[in-house]
Amino acid sequence: MNEYDSDKIRSLLGMELTNDPKKADVVIINTCAIREKADQKAFSSLGRLKHLKFRKPNMILGVGGCVAQLYGERLLENFPHLDIVFGTRTITLLPELISRVEREKRRMVETSFDVEEVFEFEPYHEEGKVTAFVSVQQGCNKMCSYCIVPLVRGQETNRSVEDILRETQKLVQKGVSEITLIGQTVNSWKMGGYKFGDLLKIMAEIEGLFRIRFTTSYPRDVTKKLIDAIREVPKVCHHIHLPVQSGSNRILTKMGRTYTREWYIDILKRIRDAIPDMAITTDIIVGFPGETEEDFNDTMRLLKEVEFDGTFSFKFSPRPGTPAVEFIDIVYDEIASRRLMELQAFQSEITVKKNQSRVGQIEEVLIEGESKNDPSWVTGRTSHNRVVNFLGMIDIRGKLERVIITEGFQNSLRGRLLENNLEVSHVS
Ligand code: SF4
Repeated sequence: MNEYDSDKIRSLLGMELTNDPKKADVVIINTCAIREKADQKAFSSLGRLKHLKFRKPNMILGVGGCVAQLYGERLLENFPHLDIVFGTRTITLLPELISRVEREKRRMVETSFDVEEVFEFEPYHEEGKVTAFVSVQQGCNKMCSYCIVPLVRGQETNRSVEDILRETQKLVQKGVSEITLIGQTVNSWKMGGYKFGDLLKIMAEIEGLFRIRFTTSYPRDVTKKLIDAIREVPKVCHHIHLPVQSGSNRILTKMGRTYTREWYIDILKRIRDAIPDMAITTDIIVGFPGETEEDFNDTMRLLKEVEFDGTFSFKFSPRPGTPAVEFIDIVYDEIASRRLMELQAFQSEITVKKNQSRVGQIEEVLIEGESKNDPSWVTGRTSHNRVVNFLGMIDIRGKLERVIITEGFQNSLRGRLLENNLEVSHVS
C-alpha cells in the first residue's frame, strides 16, 4: 500500500526524480506505522535531513503516510525543519500544500479523513516494469486488537469498478502485464452490487492484461464466489495471502480475529479442494500478550498441518491507540525472539521442501527482467508467486513463457526456458 502511495505521490508531483536528497527541491518521506521499528525509521530519516535543510532552506521537506497521520501536528513540534505533514487520505492535496508553503512561507498540516479521495490521476509507471499495483480499497472496518491500520487509514472505502478499470487500462497501455489489486482486506471489496469475485471476472476482460493478483485477503471474507472466480478465470493467479496470525483459539479471540483455528483450516480445505495447486501464504504474530508455550505450540502445529507455501512472521509490536497496548500480560522479548526463530526455521524447511517439489514441473512464468545479482540471468514469477531464474535474454520481458524447473531453493526456483516444449540453450 505504501509503495502504491509513493507511486501516486510521484505521479501527482510530476517532478524529475532523484534518489539523492542533496539534489532535490522537494523531499517527501512516505512512512509506515505498522510496527514500532517502522516509526523509528521515519523519525531517524527526518532527523538525518536536518543539516541538509539548514544548508538548503528553500528545499521543501514533507512527511506523509501512517506515521504522519498518527502524530500529525506533533511532528512539526518535534522536527522544526519539517515543512509539511500530510495524511493517508490527503495525498492528492500535496501539490497544493507545496505551493502554499512556497507562497505563504508557513508550515502545513493536513491529515483530515474527510477529504474526498481523488482517483483521477495518471498512474506512475517505471519504464520497463511489467507489474503494478492498483488500489481498490482504503482503510479497514475490522477491529483487530493489535492493529493500527483503522486508526491511520480510517474506515473501509471501496473504489468504483470504473476507476479501477480506468487505472488498470492506462497501466496496460504503458506495458504492464500483471496487476495486483490491493486493499487492507481486499476480498471484502464490494461496490454497486458487485462483490470481489465479480471484480476479478470484470478485470479479466481487459485486453493485454495477462495476470491478476490480489492482496491481502481476510479469512472471513473468502466466499464461494471468490473461490469460483479464482478457479474459473485463467488470468487470476493461483496464490492467496491469507493471514492467520495465530494457531491458538485463545489468542485469536484476544486478537479479535473473528474466526477459530478450525474455521480457518476449513476455509483452506475448501480452497484446496477447488484449486488443488493453490499456493497459500500467511502472516503470523508471535509473542502476542498472554501467549503461552501451549498457544505457541498450537501455532507450530497449525504450520505443520497446513504447510503454508510461505509465512511472514513478526514479534508482536505494541502500537499506540490500539487495545493490545493496554494488555499487561506481555511476553518477554527473549521468549518472543526464541519463538520467532523456531517458527521461521520450521517454515523454512517447509518452503524449501515445497519449492523442491516443483523440480521437473513446467511452470508458466511472467518475465519481469534481468536478475539483480547477475544480468545474464532472467527473472520472473510463477502463478504461485514463486521467483524463477533462468539463463536467457530479456527481450521476452512482459511475456508468459514456459520454464522447466531444475532446482528449488529457499526463496526461488531455477529453471530452463522452453520453446515449443524444447529447451532453449544459452551461452553464459
Ligand atoms: S484486518 Fe488487517 S488491516 Fe484490518 S484491523 Fe485486522 S490486521 Fe488491521
